Amino acid sequence: MARAALMDFDEALERFDPVIGLEVHVELNTTTKMFSSAPNPANSAFHGAEPNTLITPVCLGLPGSLPVVNGTAVRYSISLGLALGCEIAPSSRFARKNYFYPDLAKNYQISQYDEPIAFDGSVEVELENGRTFTVPIERAHMEEDAGKLTHVGGSTGRIQGAEYSLVDYNRAGVPLVEIVTRPIEGAGADAPALARAYVSTIRDIVLSLGISEARMERGNLRCDANVSLRPRGEQKYGTRTETKNVNSMRSIERAVRYEIQRQAAILAGGGTITQETRHWHEDTGTTSAGRPKSDADDYRYFPEPDLLPVEPTAELIDELRAALPEPPAARRRRLKGEWGFTDLEFQDVVNGGLLVEVAETVAAGASPAAARKWWTGELTRVANARETDAASLASPAQVAELAALVDEGVLTDRLARQVLEGVAAGEGSPREIVEARGLAVVSDDGALIAAIDDALASQPDVLAKIRDGKVQAAGAVIGAVMKAMQGKADAARVRELVLERAQG
Ligand code: ADP
Ligand code: MG
Repeated sequence: MARAALMDFDEALERFDPVIGLEVHVELNTTTKMFSSAPNPANSAFHGAEPNTLITPVCLGLPGSLPVVNGTAVRYSISLGLALGCEIAPSSRFARKNYFYPDLAKNYQISQYDEPIAFDGSVEVELENGRTFTVPIERAHMEEDAGKLTHVGGSTGRIQGAEYSLVDYNRAGVPLVEIVTRPIEGAGADAPALARAYVSTIRDIVLSLGISEARMERGNLRCDANVSLRPRGEQKYGTRTETKNVNSMRSIERAVRYEIQRQAAILAGGGTITQETRHWHEDTGTTSAGRPKSDADDYRYFPEPDLLPVEPTAELIDELRAALPEPPAARRRRLKGEWGFTDLEFQDVVNGGLLVEVAETVAAGASPAAARKWWTGELTRVANARETDAASLASPAQVAELAALVDEGVLTDRLARQVLEGVAAGEGSPREIVEARGLAVVSDDGALIAAIDDALASQPDVLAKIRDGKVQAAGAVIGAVMKAMQGKADAARVRELVLERAQG
């Protein structure tokens, strides 16, 4: 595949005005699926189940099976719609979207089309550089997820060149809400960062509602990024491409940036943009052509005859509105003040996508500084090494317990890092790991003094220097003692004792 020509980003922005549109799919964490009683793998309790074990005849579209709407999924969707500032339709309807779906055996997806449950909202989004945007939301509608295909043989994991494909219907029928923005104009060079910050804000919202696990690496939150360019000063939108299923916050930003540079090079060379879907390649940081997709694609939508319209009462909507949590933007401002973080410290937390985790760790008793340190520093490092995200490795309660052990002097920072590795490896709670691995700091001076006396005896030259008042020489002895104690000593206390014993 030939590498696409790219225009320098700044030059692209001088000549063209980017317009973006974001489609975010949120998998709801209900106990059962959208239209059947099958367990929902988007709920952590069922995540990772054996293929084709979370299914009923409805998930497989077997003849004679009938869908039933999951009431909890409807309530979650209404709450999400309200949190997005949307109107909630007093009556909305499911529709069949017909397509060839090897991973959805009915060959149609039950979705919503002309009557979505929520519409006309907006979301406040704040960028790292402090700029704020109001992103207009066109609609949020309910639908079901498709199953998963695994293409076996061949080198790319794609269907081209594969020998055969396996299908797992566990995901078929998982409740989804698709949130669609109106075209977003005026972001200019901030368009890539805005795309990322928007998805991050949606994640904050669904987490604060508790309606999704919102893990991008698991596909609980998926984003399709539409990008088009128009010459500066032009009103009419250019032709868009839709980059599918970009699976991390960082990749969203990179994918939008890449598409701006790619399209700019084509347009500047007199070419035209093909309206198509594109695949994002994480390894190369590029996109490649998927399928052509015109606005007139004919899915033969028609009202789903097996389901009644969804008609929430005004009382239900009021009840859900009253129960909405504090909006993420307001909560951020409040937390930043309460924690006393600098802008940089706060951004560190927000950029790591760890606001919820840090807040819960503080609520569990840790100081804000300790919560930030363990989440954005140490756990993120462990997570990067394991190619996963920090939130999947430890719970806020575990991190708070770890911070308490450091505060109590049971652990030094160095030992706490080892405990954290144990937590990440699923060995139990910090206290259990300290016990099992024997990691607690040796606070008994007797044991320390014995080690110090040994070290001083074996380094008489150092001992002489200390006695001469060259206290910096003590470093060598302290090092030897820390080594003898396998790091399980408080270095400051060791230093005190070394100086004391040297005089002795
Ligand atoms: P599709 O069926 O292609 O997924 P949707 O209506 O679900 O269509 O989503 C299209 C997305 O693209 C919306 O977010 C919309 O605002 C956005 N969009 C439409 N036209 C443009 C354009 N010219 N440039 C950028 N984004 C666009
Ligand atoms: Mg769409």
